[in-house]
Amino acid sequence: MISRIIDEKAIVKAKGLIEQAEHIVAICHTAPDGDAIGSCLAATHVFSAIGKDIRTVIPDSHLFNLRDLPGAIDIVDATKYYDFAVKLLTDADLILCLDFNEPKRCGRLEKALCDSKAHKILIDHHLNPNIEADVIISHPEVAATAYLFFRFLCRLEFFNLIDKKAAECVLAGMMTDTGNFSYNCDDPDMYVVVAELIRKGADKEKLYRQLFATFSANCLRLNSYALLNKMEVYKDECAALITLSRDELNRYHYTKGDTEGLVNKPLSIPGIVYSCFMRQEADMIKISMRSVGDFPVNELCSQYYGGGGHLNAAGGEYYGSLEDAAELFRSILKENKKRYIK
Ligand code: 5GP
Ligand code: MN
Repeated sequence: MISRIIDEKAIVKAKGLIEQAEHIVAICHTAPDGDAIGSCLAATHVFSAIGKDIRTVIPDSHLFNLRDLPGAIDIVDATKYYDFAVKLLTDADLILCLDFNEPKRCGRLEKALCDSKAHKILIDHHLNPNIEADVIISHPEVAATAYLFFRFLCRLEFFNLIDKKAAECVLAGMMTDTGNFSYNCDDPDMYVVVAELIRKGADKEKLYRQLFATFSANCLRLNSYALLNKMEVYKDECAALITLSRDELNRYHYTKGDTEGLVNKPLSIPGIVYSCFMRQEADMIKISMRSVGDFPVNELCSQYYGGGGHLNAAGGEYYGSLEDAAELFRSILKENKKRYIK
């Protein structure tokens, strides 16, 4: 039997809200990844099975590799259907806030979410939840929201309602946030859940190909170029940096998601403890950092790049030139080593 982690009072309250609700919306953060989308779609499958009118609403488009997840076709993307997305949030009597910790992570839907009179249930694994919700189920120690959501469903006694489609969505979330079970995955209960999901028919090999092993030729070339020509390795400081400018991205016909995972690559070099990737966007520089062990990239992202995240995976933004963003990173390498690396 797996341990109980969700507080019983939260379960009872959430159960009541779900029973009363007719119109439910599942919503997640901007640039939704497999965990965000997997959690929302799992909710959509299970709650529609008990007769609820439920839609997944997302602030902006998800990555291309999530398009085949069961139910993805019915997602309401606010970049295409903004008014409809706002109407769904406004008319909902229950909103499930999945895989984010504060309304501002909902980007263009932040106001509609905050203004909605619907009851709200937050289920998430990011630190420091800061949202007005009737029920807050926040467990930063779990690897994926989809995994927490599965456990939530079990506690609601909805295990039997989890069909093959919902199981694949949950598994997609767990695979996404653990890099296909290569990090944040030392919780034995996760594998009990994986076994149940596979028993329900989830095709893990198919999901692996969809989520981790489907790339366009341009994407492969862009990543090869970045590693060959743009990776700066600071061996003494245990760090690496990759930057890509607009021009470089355009040269390889960059589309969203093409650099997903690139930031992890330098961590395969022995002795490299943290890695930073900077991508020039239209109005800012998007920062992504990853680390191994107890090096806190969330602290760096929050202190220098107005962001945050998890100990080993964090991000932020820089408003200025790509070169200045990179120079700032280079200038703190020695200090970081002193502060965080024994
Ligand atoms: P990624 O590098 O995949 O964009 O983001 C990794 C993690 O860092 C996300 O799951 C999220 O927790 C956090 N993160 C990324 N960008 C931001 C940001 O701009 N602000 C904050 N607070 N967190 C971010
Ligand atoms: Mn997540």
